[in-house]
Amino acid sequence: MDISVIIPLYNEDESLTELTAWIEKVMEEHHFSYEIIMVDDGSKDRSWEIIRQLAAKNPCIRAIKFRRNYGKSAALHCGFHAAQGDAVITMDADMQDSPDEIPALYKMITEEDYDMVSGWKKKRYDPLSKTIPTKLFNATARKFSGIKLHDFNCGLKAYKQKVVKSIEVYGEMHRYIPILAKEAGFGRIGEKVVQHRARKYGVTKFGGWNRFINGVLDLLSVTFITRFAKKPMHLFGTLGTLLFLVGFLAIAWIAVNKYLCLVHGVKAPLITDTPYFFIALTGMILGTQLFLAGFVAELVSRSAVDRNVYQIEQEI
Ligand code: UDP
Ligand code: MG
Repeated sequence: MDISVIIPLYNEDESLTELTAWIEKVMEEHHFSYEIIMVDDGSKDRSWEIIRQLAAKNPCIRAIKFRRNYGKSAALHCGFHAAQGDAVITMDADMQDSPDEIPALYKMITEEDYDMVSGWKKKRYDPLSKTIPTKLFNATARKFSGIKLHDFNCGLKAYKQKVVKSIEVYGEMHRYIPILAKEAGFGRIGEKVVQHRARKYGVTKFGGWNRFINGVLDLLSVTFITRFAKKPMHLFGTLGTLLFLVGFLAIAWIAVNKYLCLVHGVKAPLITDTPYFFIALTGMILGTQLFLAGFVAELVSRSAVDRNVYQIEQEI
């Protein structure tokens, strides 16, 4: 099969029929063999009913329904698991992404040999409250990951099948899939300017104030996971040593001070009277704690052998 189109959707009943018809039209014009995998992320509207009607008419449509709303990342993860096409294309359900981009994306994956291609909504039709934080995200993500993409979180993306089978998208990680792909060893990441349109039906599901904080936290976990998951001691050990050293120096200072006072017969202050005592105490305790955290993290990462610690590209 040439292409799997994965569509995560949450309360998008108004656009589904139009979107599906458009995808079908593009696929037929270009003679692709394809499947459309709709992942209904616990919609409360008529989405599932409509999907059932659509699937009854076209055998290329497959669908998965979640019992409740788990989020876009979970929906994508599930879709990736089910995908059978050589190229896997993800697309939002709200008609902001255009199915007309599919042939060009497919070509980049198959002929130009990209592992993944991310869409770039160069001209966006979203409110400012959305575009400004997005610019910030992208700049940070670019800096941390070293991947030169303008639009990490574009819903329209294309992958080689083996890429989607090798990454684990959870939490709100759908924003950083390129980073996960790179970490999994798929470094040929391309970008294609895509058309973007204003949402035709329904409302955005990512408008809340907390998207900014959550986004930053997720970026932190992605960075941490990609840099330190396999060697947590490098982070915790370094921090622990530094803090312990600070504590040790403070203790040494107290000791030297006390000794000098005794030698010179000056009445020595109580050690609890100097700030160095508290610095030493905090430094040594925190340092030890960090070391322990490092050891525990090492144990956890060692015992995680069966969970994608490494990936085999071929087997005979
Ligand atoms: N979506 C989803 N689960 C959620 C939230 C969103 O599957 O919990 C889907 C949504 O239906 C849409 C896509 O993810 O197909 C992108 O969402 P949206 O258009 O609201 O995001 P925006 O374009 O405003 O960033
Ligand atoms: Mg949208």
